[in-house]
Amino acid sequence: MAEREGNIVPEDEIARQETFMHSVRELDPGADRKYFIHTFGCQMNENDSEKLAGMLESMGYRRSGDPEECDLILFNTCCVREHAEQKVYGHLGRLKPLKARRPGLVIAICGCMMQQEEVVEHILEKYSHVDLIFGTHNIHRFPELLYRAVTGHSPVTDISSGDGLIAEGLPIRREHGVKAWLTIMYGCDNFCSYCIVPYVRGRERSRRMADIIDEARLLGRQGYREITLLGQNVNSYGLDMDDGSSFAALLRSLEEVDGIERIRFMTSHPKDLSEELILAMRDCSKVCEHLHLPVQAGSNRILAEMNRKYTREQYFGLVDRVRDKIPGISITTDIIVGFPGETDEDFEQTLDLVERVRFDYAYTFLYSRRTGTPAAKKAGQVSEEAKKKRFDELLKLQNGISAEINAKLAGTVAEILVEGPSKNNIRMMTGRTRTNKIVNFAGDPGLAGKLVDVRIERTGTWSLDGTLV
Ligand code: SF4
Repeated sequence: MAEREGNIVPEDEIARQETFMHSVRELDPGADRKYFIHTFGCQMNENDSEKLAGMLESMGYRRSGDPEECDLILFNTCCVREHAEQKVYGHLGRLKPLKARRPGLVIAICGCMMQQEEVVEHILEKYSHVDLIFGTHNIHRFPELLYRAVTGHSPVTDISSGDGLIAEGLPIRREHGVKAWLTIMYGCDNFCSYCIVPYVRGRERSRRMADIIDEARLLGRQGYREITLLGQNVNSYGLDMDDGSSFAALLRSLEEVDGIERIRFMTSHPKDLSEELILAMRDCSKVCEHLHLPVQAGSNRILAEMNRKYTREQYFGLVDRVRDKIPGISITTDIIVGFPGETDEDFEQTLDLVERVRFDYAYTFLYSRRTGTPAAKKAGQVSEEAKKKRFDELLKLQNGISAEINAKLAGTVAEILVEGPSKNNIRMMTGRTRTNKIVNFAGDPGLAGKLVDVRIERTGTWSLDGTLV
Protein backbone atom coordinates (compact mmCIF):
# COMPACT_ATOMS: atom_id res chain seq x y z
CA MET A 1 0.00 0.00 0.00
CA ALA A 2 1.21 3.48 -0.77
CA GLU A 3 1.98 5.83 2.08
CA ARG A 4 -0.52 8.65 1.53
CA GLU A 5 1.53 11.46 3.02
CA GLY A 6 4.57 10.31 1.05
CA ASN A 7 2.54 10.70 -2.19
CA ILE A 8 1.61 14.31 -1.59
CA VAL A 9 3.66 17.41 -2.30
CA PRO A 10 4.66 18.75 1.16
CA GLU A 11 3.05 22.01 2.23
CA ASP A 12 6.43 23.76 2.50
CA GLU A 13 7.09 22.96 -1.18
CA ILE A 14 3.72 24.48 -2.14
CA ALA A 15 4.65 27.54 -0.03
CA ARG A 16 8.01 27.70 -1.83
CA GLN A 17 6.23 27.75 -5.17
CA GLU A 18 3.96 30.55 -3.90
CA THR A 19 7.13 32.54 -3.25
CA PHE A 20 8.15 32.00 -6.88
CA MET A 21 4.67 33.14 -7.99
CA HIS A 22 5.28 36.33 -6.06
CA SER A 23 8.77 36.68 -7.59
CA VAL A 24 7.42 36.33 -11.15
CA ARG A 25 4.71 38.90 -10.38
CA GLU A 26 7.32 41.31 -9.03
CA LEU A 27 9.62 41.02 -12.06
CA ASP A 28 7.58 43.65 -13.88
CA PRO A 29 4.68 44.60 -11.59
CA GLY A 30 2.88 47.07 -13.92
CA ALA A 31 3.16 45.01 -17.10
CA ASP A 32 0.08 43.66 -18.88
CA ARG A 33 1.33 40.13 -19.51
CA LYS A 34 -0.81 37.70 -21.46
CA TYR A 35 -0.80 33.95 -21.87
CA PHE A 36 -2.21 31.40 -24.27
CA ILE A 37 -2.56 27.69 -23.48
CA HIS A 38 -3.15 25.10 -26.18
CA THR A 39 -4.35 21.82 -24.66
CA PHE A 40 -4.25 18.48 -26.47
CA GLY A 41 -5.78 15.19 -25.39
CA CYS A 42 -8.05 14.14 -22.58
CA GLN A 43 -10.05 15.86 -19.84
CA MET A 44 -7.23 15.22 -17.36
CA ASN A 45 -4.99 17.40 -19.49
CA GLU A 46 -7.74 20.01 -19.61
CA ASN A 47 -7.92 19.96 -15.83
CA ASP A 48 -4.10 20.28 -15.61
CA SER A 49 -4.30 23.25 -17.98
CA GLU A 50 -6.87 24.87 -15.68
CA LYS A 51 -4.32 24.58 -12.85
CA LEU A 52 -1.52 25.99 -15.02
CA ALA A 53 -3.84 28.88 -15.98
CA GLY A 54 -4.63 29.42 -12.29
CA MET A 55 -0.93 29.65 -11.47
CA LEU A 56 -0.31 32.02 -14.37
CA GLU A 57 -3.11 34.32 -13.24
CA SER A 58 -1.67 34.26 -9.72
CA MET A 59 1.60 35.39 -11.31
CA GLY A 60 -0.05 38.41 -12.95
CA TYR A 61 -0.71 37.01 -16.42
CA ARG A 62 -4.02 37.54 -18.21
CA ARG A 63 -5.59 35.09 -20.63
CA SER A 64 -5.71 35.95 -24.33
CA GLY A 65 -7.22 34.14 -27.29
CA ASP A 66 -4.53 35.44 -29.65
CA PRO A 67 -1.12 33.75 -29.33
CA GLU A 68 0.48 36.50 -31.48
CA GLU A 69 0.00 39.09 -28.73
CA CYS A 70 1.03 36.84 -25.84
CA ASP A 71 4.08 36.90 -23.58
CA LEU A 72 3.79 33.20 -22.87
CA ILE A 73 2.53 30.36 -25.06
CA LEU A 74 2.15 26.97 -23.41
CA PHE A 75 1.41 23.64 -25.10
CA ASN A 76 0.00 20.93 -22.85
CA THR A 77 0.59 17.83 -24.93
CA CYS A 78 -0.83 14.32 -25.38
CA CYS A 79 1.01 11.28 -26.69
CA VAL A 80 -1.88 8.83 -27.02
CA ARG A 81 -2.06 9.32 -30.79
CA GLU A 82 0.65 10.12 -33.31
CA HIS A 83 -1.55 12.70 -35.00
CA ALA A 84 -1.66 14.92 -31.88
CA GLU A 85 2.13 14.72 -31.56
CA GLN A 86 2.66 15.81 -35.15
CA LYS A 87 0.33 18.75 -34.58
CA VAL A 88 2.46 19.90 -31.63
CA TYR A 89 5.61 19.85 -33.76
CA GLY A 90 3.78 21.81 -36.46
CA HIS A 91 2.73 24.49 -33.96
CA LEU A 92 6.24 24.72 -32.50
CA GLY A 93 7.78 25.14 -35.95
CA ARG A 94 5.38 27.94 -36.85
CA LEU A 95 6.31 29.88 -33.70
CA LYS A 96 9.96 30.28 -34.69
CA PRO A 97 9.50 33.56 -36.64
CA LEU A 98 7.36 35.01 -33.80
CA LYS A 99 10.07 34.20 -31.27
CA ALA A 100 12.68 35.81 -33.58
CA ARG A 101 10.58 39.00 -33.70
CA ARG A 102 9.85 38.95 -29.97
CA PRO A 103 12.74 37.34 -28.07
CA GLY A 104 10.99 38.05 -24.75
CA LEU A 105 8.19 35.61 -25.63
CA VAL A 106 8.32 32.47 -23.46
CA ILE A 107 7.45 29.26 -25.31
CA ALA A 108 6.72 26.41 -22.90
CA ILE A 109 5.71 22.81 -23.48
CA CYS A 110 4.50 20.26 -20.95
CA GLY A 111 2.28 17.18 -20.62
CA CYS A 112 2.52 13.52 -21.58
CA MET A 113 4.77 13.92 -24.62
CA MET A 114 7.42 15.43 -22.35
CA GLN A 115 7.60 12.27 -20.24
CA GLN A 116 9.36 10.59 -23.17
CA GLU A 117 13.10 11.16 -23.20
CA GLU A 118 13.48 10.91 -26.97
CA VAL A 119 10.79 13.55 -27.50
CA VAL A 120 12.52 15.98 -25.15
CA GLU A 121 15.86 15.38 -26.89
CA HIS A 122 14.20 15.96 -30.28
CA ILE A 123 12.69 19.26 -29.13
CA LEU A 124 15.93 20.49 -27.59
CA GLU A 125 17.75 19.66 -30.82
CA LYS A 126 15.25 20.86 -33.43
CA TYR A 127 13.26 23.59 -31.69
CA SER A 128 15.86 25.72 -29.93
CA HIS A 129 13.32 28.56 -29.57
CA VAL A 130 11.51 26.56 -26.83
CA ASP A 131 12.28 28.06 -23.40
CA LEU A 132 10.68 25.66 -20.95
CA ILE A 133 9.97 21.92 -20.95
CA PHE A 134 8.35 20.03 -18.08
CA GLY A 135 6.40 16.80 -17.63
CA THR A 136 3.17 15.64 -16.05
CA HIS A 137 4.64 14.90 -12.63
CA ASN A 138 5.75 18.37 -11.62
CA ILE A 139 3.21 20.94 -12.73
CA HIS A 140 3.22 22.31 -9.18
CA ARG A 141 6.80 23.47 -9.86
CA PHE A 142 5.69 25.60 -12.81
CA PRO A 143 6.18 28.96 -10.96
CA GLU A 144 9.81 28.14 -10.15
CA LEU A 145 10.52 26.85 -13.68
CA LEU A 146 8.88 29.89 -15.26
CA TYR A 147 10.87 32.21 -13.00
CA ARG A 148 14.07 30.54 -14.15
CA ALA A 149 13.00 30.75 -17.81
CA VAL A 150 12.07 34.45 -17.71
CA THR A 151 15.19 35.41 -15.80
CA GLY A 152 17.38 34.19 -18.62
CA HIS A 153 18.17 30.61 -17.82
CA SER A 154 16.34 29.07 -20.75
CA PRO A 155 16.00 26.46 -21.97
CA VAL A 156 14.77 25.11 -18.63
CA THR A 157 14.05 21.38 -18.62
CA ASP A 158 12.52 19.54 -15.69
CA ILE A 159 11.36 16.01 -16.36
CA SER A 160 11.11 13.84 -13.31
CA SER A 161 10.72 10.11 -13.54
CA GLY A 162 8.92 7.99 -10.96
CA ASP A 163 5.21 8.24 -10.35
CA GLY A 164 4.96 11.88 -9.40
CA LEU A 165 3.38 13.49 -6.38
CA ILE A 166 -0.15 14.74 -5.84
CA ALA A 167 -0.26 18.51 -5.42
CA GLU A 168 -3.20 19.85 -3.41
CA GLY A 169 -4.31 23.47 -3.18
CA LEU A 170 -2.96 24.79 -6.48
CA PRO A 171 -4.72 27.86 -7.84
CA ILE A 172 -7.14 27.02 -10.63
CA ARG A 173 -8.86 28.95 -13.38
CA ARG A 174 -11.75 26.81 -14.58
CA GLU A 175 -12.99 26.84 -18.15
CA HIS A 176 -16.70 26.54 -17.38
CA GLY A 177 -18.90 28.28 -14.84
CA VAL A 178 -21.50 25.53 -14.50
CA LYS A 179 -19.63 22.23 -14.65
CA ALA A 180 -16.18 21.40 -13.33
CA TRP A 181 -13.58 18.69 -13.80
CA LEU A 182 -12.41 17.12 -10.57
CA THR A 183 -9.42 14.79 -10.86
CA ILE A 184 -9.61 12.06 -8.22
CA MET A 185 -6.60 9.96 -9.17
CA TYR A 186 -3.56 9.93 -11.37
CA GLY A 187 -1.82 7.24 -13.41
CA CYS A 188 -2.85 3.77 -14.51
CA ASP A 189 -1.84 0.23 -13.58
CA ASN A 190 -3.53 -1.59 -16.43
CA PHE A 191 -0.94 -1.63 -19.21
CA CYS A 192 -3.31 -2.21 -22.08
CA SER A 193 -0.87 -3.28 -24.75
CA TYR A 194 -1.59 -0.38 -27.14
CA CYS A 195 -1.51 2.39 -24.53
CA ILE A 196 1.35 4.68 -23.60
CA VAL A 197 -0.41 6.23 -20.57
CA PRO A 198 1.03 4.01 -17.78
CA TYR A 199 4.55 4.80 -19.05
CA VAL A 200 4.05 8.57 -19.03
CA ARG A 201 1.55 9.08 -16.21
CA GLY A 202 2.96 6.47 -13.79
CA ARG A 203 1.18 4.08 -11.42
CA GLU A 204 -2.23 4.75 -9.90
CA ARG A 205 -2.24 7.31 -7.11
CA SER A 206 -5.57 8.26 -5.50
CA ARG A 207 -6.20 11.60 -3.87
CA ARG A 208 -7.40 11.53 -0.26
CA MET A 209 -11.17 11.30 -0.08
CA ALA A 210 -11.29 14.29 2.31
CA ASP A 211 -9.40 16.47 -0.21
CA ILE A 212 -11.79 15.50 -3.03
CA ILE A 213 -14.86 16.20 -0.90
CA ASP A 214 -13.41 19.56 0.19
CA GLU A 215 -12.87 20.50 -3.45
CA ALA A 216 -16.43 19.43 -4.35
CA ARG A 217 -17.83 21.49 -1.43
CA LEU A 218 -15.90 24.52 -2.62
CA LEU A 219 -17.26 24.01 -6.14
CA GLY A 220 -20.79 23.80 -4.74
CA ARG A 221 -20.27 27.06 -2.85
CA GLN A 222 -18.84 28.70 -5.97
CA GLY A 223 -22.02 27.92 -7.91
CA TYR A 224 -20.92 24.90 -9.94
CA ARG A 225 -23.80 22.49 -10.47
CA GLU A 226 -22.08 19.50 -12.03
CA ILE A 227 -18.80 17.76 -11.33
CA THR A 228 -17.10 15.15 -13.49
CA LEU A 229 -14.72 12.95 -11.54
CA LEU A 230 -11.64 12.18 -13.60
CA GLY A 231 -9.08 9.41 -13.65
CA GLN A 232 -7.67 6.98 -16.20
CA ASN A 233 -9.61 4.27 -14.39
CA VAL A 234 -11.87 5.78 -11.73
CA ASN A 235 -13.31 2.37 -10.79
CA SER A 236 -10.04 1.48 -9.10
CA TYR A 237 -10.02 4.67 -7.01
CA GLY A 238 -8.79 3.90 -3.50
CA LEU A 239 -7.29 0.49 -4.24
CA ASP A 240 -3.82 1.96 -3.60
CA MET A 241 -4.88 3.11 -0.13
CA ASP A 242 -5.47 1.08 3.00
CA ASP A 243 -8.17 3.23 4.59
CA GLY A 244 -11.26 1.64 3.03
CA SER A 245 -11.61 4.31 0.34
CA SER A 246 -13.38 3.07 -2.78
CA PHE A 247 -15.05 4.70 -5.73
CA ALA A 248 -18.48 3.57 -4.57
CA ALA A 249 -17.85 5.10 -1.12
CA LEU A 250 -16.64 8.30 -2.75
CA LEU A 251 -19.83 8.60 -4.83
CA ARG A 252 -21.96 8.09 -1.72
CA SER A 253 -20.05 10.83 0.13
CA LEU A 254 -20.22 13.27 -2.77
CA GLU A 255 -23.98 12.74 -2.93
CA GLU A 256 -24.16 14.75 0.32
CA VAL A 257 -22.33 17.83 -1.04
CA ASP A 258 -24.58 20.91 -1.08
CA GLY A 259 -24.97 22.81 -4.33
CA ILE A 260 -23.76 20.01 -6.59
CA GLU A 261 -26.75 18.64 -8.51
CA ARG A 262 -25.09 16.21 -10.88
CA ILE A 263 -22.12 13.88 -10.63
CA ARG A 264 -20.47 12.24 -13.63
CA PHE A 265 -17.26 10.27 -13.94
CA MET A 266 -14.83 8.94 -16.48
CA THR A 267 -13.21 6.65 -17.44
CA SER A 268 -14.35 3.25 -16.20
CA HIS A 269 -12.55 -0.01 -16.88
CA PRO A 270 -14.97 -2.95 -17.30
CA LYS A 271 -12.81 -5.27 -15.19
CA ASP A 272 -13.24 -2.98 -12.14
CA LEU A 273 -16.95 -2.19 -12.49
CA SER A 274 -18.10 -3.84 -9.28
CA GLU A 275 -21.62 -4.62 -8.07
CA GLU A 276 -20.94 -2.26 -5.17
CA LEU A 277 -20.33 0.54 -7.66
CA ILE A 278 -23.45 -0.24 -9.74
CA LEU A 279 -25.53 -0.10 -6.55
CA ALA A 280 -23.97 3.23 -5.55
CA MET A 281 -24.79 4.60 -9.02
CA ARG A 282 -28.37 3.38 -8.60
CA ASP A 283 -28.78 4.76 -5.08
CA CYS A 284 -27.18 8.19 -5.50
CA SER A 285 -29.72 10.54 -7.02
CA LYS A 286 -27.04 12.99 -8.15
CA VAL A 287 -25.06 10.40 -10.09
CA CYS A 288 -26.24 10.77 -13.68
CA GLU A 289 -27.62 7.86 -15.68
CA HIS A 290 -24.68 7.65 -18.03
CA LEU A 291 -21.79 5.20 -18.09
CA HIS A 292 -18.80 5.49 -20.38
CA LEU A 293 -17.47 1.95 -20.53
CA PRO A 294 -14.72 1.48 -23.13
CA VAL A 295 -14.92 -1.95 -24.75
CA GLN A 296 -12.17 -1.33 -27.35
CA ALA A 297 -12.87 -4.51 -29.39
CA GLY A 298 -15.48 -7.20 -29.87
CA SER A 299 -13.22 -10.19 -30.45
CA ASN A 300 -12.01 -12.17 -27.46
CA ARG A 301 -8.73 -12.88 -29.20
CA ILE A 302 -8.08 -9.16 -29.75
CA LEU A 303 -9.25 -8.27 -26.23
CA ALA A 304 -6.67 -10.74 -24.87
CA GLU A 305 -3.97 -9.30 -27.16
CA MET A 306 -4.92 -5.85 -25.89
CA ASN A 307 -4.50 -7.10 -22.29
CA ARG A 308 -7.98 -5.83 -21.42
CA LYS A 309 -8.67 -8.65 -18.91
CA TYR A 310 -12.30 -9.31 -19.84
CA THR A 311 -14.15 -11.17 -22.57
CA ARG A 312 -17.02 -10.01 -24.73
CA GLU A 313 -19.33 -12.30 -22.72
CA GLN A 314 -18.27 -10.62 -19.48
CA TYR A 315 -18.85 -7.24 -21.08
CA PHE A 316 -22.37 -8.26 -22.16
CA GLY A 317 -23.00 -9.43 -18.58
CA LEU A 318 -21.91 -6.08 -17.18
CA VAL A 319 -24.12 -4.14 -19.58
CA ASP A 320 -27.09 -6.33 -18.65
CA ARG A 321 -26.48 -5.81 -14.92
CA VAL A 322 -26.12 -2.05 -15.30
CA ARG A 323 -29.28 -1.77 -17.44
CA ASP A 324 -31.18 -3.98 -15.05
CA LYS A 325 -30.27 -1.86 -11.98
CA ILE A 326 -30.44 1.54 -13.71
CA PRO A 327 -33.18 1.49 -16.37
CA GLY A 328 -32.79 4.14 -19.07
CA ILE A 329 -29.05 4.59 -18.46
CA SER A 330 -27.10 5.61 -21.55
CA ILE A 331 -23.96 3.66 -22.27
CA THR A 332 -21.14 5.00 -24.42
CA THR A 333 -17.85 3.41 -25.34
CA ASP A 334 -14.45 3.66 -27.03
CA ILE A 335 -13.50 1.29 -29.85
CA ILE A 336 -10.13 0.87 -31.56
CA VAL A 337 -10.15 -0.31 -35.15
CA GLY A 338 -7.16 -2.04 -36.75
CA PHE A 339 -5.27 -3.32 -33.70
CA PRO A 340 -2.29 -5.43 -34.91
CA GLY A 341 -3.45 -8.82 -36.11
CA GLU A 342 -7.13 -7.82 -36.33
CA THR A 343 -8.68 -9.94 -39.08
CA ASP A 344 -11.94 -9.40 -40.94
CA GLU A 345 -13.47 -12.02 -38.62
CA ASP A 346 -12.27 -10.15 -35.52
CA PHE A 347 -13.72 -6.95 -36.89
CA GLU A 348 -17.03 -8.71 -37.60
CA GLN A 349 -17.09 -9.57 -33.88
CA THR A 350 -16.76 -5.86 -33.08
CA LEU A 351 -19.67 -5.01 -35.39
CA ASP A 352 -21.68 -7.81 -33.80
CA LEU A 353 -20.94 -6.51 -30.29
CA VAL A 354 -21.98 -2.99 -31.29
CA GLU A 355 -25.25 -4.28 -32.73
CA ARG A 356 -25.98 -6.32 -29.63
CA VAL A 357 -25.10 -3.69 -27.00
CA ARG A 358 -26.58 -0.75 -28.93
CA PHE A 359 -24.41 1.99 -27.45
CA ASP A 360 -25.84 5.48 -27.26
CA TYR A 361 -22.58 6.70 -28.72
CA ALA A 362 -19.13 5.29 -29.51
CA TYR A 363 -15.83 7.13 -29.82
CA THR A 364 -14.08 5.24 -32.59
CA PHE A 365 -10.34 5.42 -33.22
CA LEU A 366 -7.89 4.08 -35.74
CA TYR A 367 -5.17 2.13 -33.92
CA SER A 368 -2.14 4.42 -33.52
CA ARG A 369 1.24 2.70 -33.11
CA ARG A 370 2.99 4.06 -30.02
CA THR A 371 6.68 3.35 -29.60
CA GLY A 372 7.39 1.76 -26.24
CA THR A 373 4.13 -0.19 -26.03
CA PRO A 374 3.99 -3.98 -26.54
CA ALA A 375 1.49 -3.64 -29.41
CA ALA A 376 3.92 -1.53 -31.43
CA LYS A 377 6.22 -4.56 -31.73
CA LYS A 378 3.46 -6.98 -32.76
CA ALA A 379 3.45 -8.58 -36.17
CA GLY A 380 0.45 -8.12 -38.41
CA GLN A 381 0.13 -4.33 -38.34
CA VAL A 382 -3.06 -3.56 -40.29
CA SER A 383 -2.72 -1.37 -43.39
CA GLU A 384 -4.05 2.18 -43.20
CA GLU A 385 -6.43 1.42 -46.05
CA ALA A 386 -7.97 -1.58 -44.25
CA LYS A 387 -8.21 0.37 -40.98
CA LYS A 388 -9.99 3.24 -42.69
CA LYS A 389 -12.45 0.90 -44.45
CA ARG A 390 -13.33 -0.81 -41.16
CA PHE A 391 -13.55 2.53 -39.37
CA ASP A 392 -16.07 3.87 -41.90
CA GLU A 393 -18.17 0.71 -41.62
CA LEU A 394 -18.21 0.87 -37.84
CA LEU A 395 -19.04 4.56 -37.82
CA LYS A 396 -21.97 4.03 -40.21
CA LEU A 397 -23.36 1.27 -38.02
CA GLN A 398 -22.96 3.23 -34.78
CA ASN A 399 -24.35 6.47 -36.24
CA GLY A 400 -27.49 4.60 -37.29
CA ILE A 401 -27.90 3.12 -33.81
CA SER A 402 -27.33 6.52 -32.11
CA ALA A 403 -29.92 8.14 -34.39
CA GLU A 404 -32.46 5.36 -33.69
CA ILE A 405 -31.98 5.59 -29.91
CA ASN A 406 -32.30 9.38 -30.01
CA ALA A 407 -35.39 9.25 -32.25
CA LYS A 408 -37.23 7.43 -29.46
CA LEU A 409 -36.79 10.52 -27.26
CA ALA A 410 -39.01 12.70 -29.50
CA GLY A 411 -41.98 13.95 -27.49
CA THR A 412 -40.43 13.17 -24.10
CA VAL A 413 -39.53 15.80 -21.51
CA ALA A 414 -35.96 15.82 -20.19
CA GLU A 415 -34.26 17.66 -17.35
CA ILE A 416 -31.46 19.78 -18.82
CA LEU A 417 -28.63 21.47 -16.98
CA VAL A 418 -28.22 24.67 -18.99
CA GLU A 419 -24.58 25.35 -19.85
CA GLY A 420 -25.01 28.62 -21.82
CA PRO A 421 -25.42 29.80 -25.41
CA SER A 422 -24.78 27.20 -28.10
CA LYS A 423 -21.43 27.58 -29.88
CA ASN A 424 -23.07 27.03 -33.26
CA ASN A 425 -26.04 29.33 -32.77
CA ILE A 426 -25.79 32.01 -30.08
CA ARG A 427 -29.56 32.54 -30.11
CA MET A 428 -29.98 29.01 -28.80
CA MET A 429 -29.10 27.74 -25.33
CA THR A 430 -27.44 24.40 -24.87
CA GLY A 431 -27.26 21.86 -22.09
CA ARG A 432 -27.25 18.14 -21.42
CA THR A 433 -29.70 15.55 -20.23
CA ARG A 434 -28.72 13.40 -17.27
CA THR A 435 -27.92 10.76 -19.89
CA ASN A 436 -25.35 13.19 -21.37
CA LYS A 437 -27.18 14.03 -24.57
CA ILE A 438 -26.77 17.56 -25.93
CA VAL A 439 -30.04 19.50 -26.15
CA ASN A 440 -30.45 22.89 -27.85
CA PHE A 441 -33.46 25.11 -27.24
CA ALA A 442 -34.49 28.77 -27.46
CA GLY A 443 -34.04 30.40 -24.07
CA ASP A 444 -32.62 33.25 -22.06
CA PRO A 445 -28.84 33.30 -21.35
CA GLY A 446 -29.81 33.91 -17.72
CA LEU A 447 -30.83 30.25 -17.56
CA ALA A 448 -27.16 29.16 -17.51
CA GLY A 449 -26.57 26.99 -14.46
CA LYS A 450 -30.27 26.18 -14.01
CA LEU A 451 -32.03 22.85 -14.31
CA VAL A 452 -34.95 23.19 -16.73
CA ASP A 453 -37.41 20.84 -18.40
CA VAL A 454 -37.30 20.69 -22.19
CA ARG A 455 -39.66 18.84 -24.51
CA ILE A 456 -37.62 17.06 -27.19
CA GLU A 457 -38.95 17.87 -30.66
CA ARG A 458 -36.25 17.04 -33.17
CA THR A 459 -33.61 14.38 -32.84
CA GLY A 460 -30.39 13.65 -34.70
CA THR A 461 -27.31 11.48 -34.33
CA TRP A 462 -25.31 13.94 -32.20
CA SER A 463 -27.84 16.23 -30.53
CA LEU A 464 -31.50 16.96 -29.81
CA ASP A 465 -33.59 20.12 -30.21
CA GLY A 466 -36.49 21.03 -28.00
CA THR A 467 -38.67 23.66 -26.36
CA LEU A 468 -38.76 24.83 -22.76
CA VAL A 469 -41.85 23.59 -20.91
S1 SF4 B 1 -6.92 1.52 -18.74
FE1 SF4 B 1 -5.70 0.87 -20.52
S2 SF4 B 1 -6.31 2.34 -22.12
FE2 SF4 B 1 -6.91 3.27 -20.16
S3 SF4 B 1 -5.15 4.54 -19.57
FE3 SF4 B 1 -4.88 2.54 -18.57
S4 SF4 B 1 -3.57 1.39 -19.99
FE4 SF4 B 1 -4.41 3.14 -21.15
